[in-house]
Amino acid sequence: MLALKDIKKSYRIGDIVTVALDGISVAFRDKEFVAVLGKSGSGKTTALNIIGGLDRYDSGDLIIKGKHTQHFKEREWDAYRNNSVGFVFQNYNLIHHLSIVDNVEIGMTLSGVRGKEKRQRAIEVLERVGLKDHLHKKPNQLSGGQQQRVAIARALVNDPEILLCDEPTGALDTTTSKQIMDLIRLEAKDRLVIMVTHNPELAREYADRIIEFEDGKIVSDSNEYNPGAAAQDFKLTLTKMGFMTALKLSFNNIRTKIGRTALTSFASSIGIIGIAVILSLSTGFQKQIDQFQQNALSEYPIIISKSAVNLSEESLQAQMNPQSEKLAPQTGTLSGDGFPHSLERLARWMDILRDGVREGLRVRL
Ligand code: ADP
Ligand code: MG
Repeated sequence: MLALKDIKKSYRIGDIVTVALDGISVAFRDKEFVAVLGKSGSGKTTALNIIGGLDRYDSGDLIIKGKHTQHFKEREWDAYRNNSVGFVFQNYNLIHHLSIVDNVEIGMTLSGVRGKEKRQRAIEVLERVGLKDHLHKKPNQLSGGQQQRVAIARALVNDPEILLCDEPTGALDTTTSKQIMDLIRLEAKDRLVIMVTHNPELAREYADRIIEFEDGKIVSDSNEYNPGAAAQDFKLTLTKMGFMTALKLSFNNIRTKIGRTALTSFASSIGIIGIAVILSLSTGFQKQIDQFQQNALSEYPIIISKSAVNLSEESLQAQMNPQSEKLAPQTGTLSGDGFPHSLERLARWMDILRDGVREGLRVRL
């Protein structure tokens, strides 16, 4: 059901290229417990990540239930990862602010399972891994072995066909490691389990098959599998998240990051208030200017006559004086320092300008 054909993968950092996988070809049975051994840096994690759709290969082919994945789109990888594969890591990768049962429910977030069923399935699988009495504890209230059981429960809750474990007992003592191995072996009866481990004794004791990696290559396989070419029909269940789940997750995120949320809200409000103030000020000013213009223009309509007039300093002065007299009584009320006074001066200047224009027009005509 799962096969790798001459898979190659390199990582490039700057000018340095590290070959992580150098042509891996291997096929797995639908149900078996495979242990992967090898020194640190031999490519075990890279292979596991590629098998699980977490990482992409450079060349070769990964065949899932007869389906070639060379042209898989992101959503097809998502669907494969979320519905067909379960992951267990050495450091558990649990979410610390969520309870055990919520952590397991997270495993169903993208599989479209609804609220009540989700809770029921999470509880069932937690019972199966022996954590019935710890459902509402937080991860830091559990031992390492118990935390790994939660991670296993989370990986199993969608009943995946493939369970991938990257050194699941790496941080555990021998007794706890054996308990975890018992649990994983039990699960391997119903699915394909591929487990990377540093521990050859555990591998020999528990696994059906041992594959050994060295420098990005497979150097030994204790129980090789050569499937026929028969391709099976394979349908992907596409990933979807319920609206309520999305809402609940978002709310949880806001609740657990109060500081960040408050800061973001504060910054957004400053922005919004700033824009509102600028808009209202500019509208106010515009209104004021319009009104000022209207008042000024209504007092002095422009008259266009046929007779020409010489535009000189005296004639300007003569035009200016009657206006100043006209303004004199108002000056009494407006006079004084500050804003009203400046307004009055501005009005005068506008009058002079306007008269000048008027005279100019007369001259031209
Ligand atoms: P293992 O799990 O067997 O210890 P890995 O698959 O993690 O080995 O790594 C194989 C090689 O690829 C190592 O040399 C490692 O340094 C390199 N490698 C792995 N992941 C990355 C990465 N993300 N970026 C660069 N190099 C990596
Ligand atoms: Mg590794």
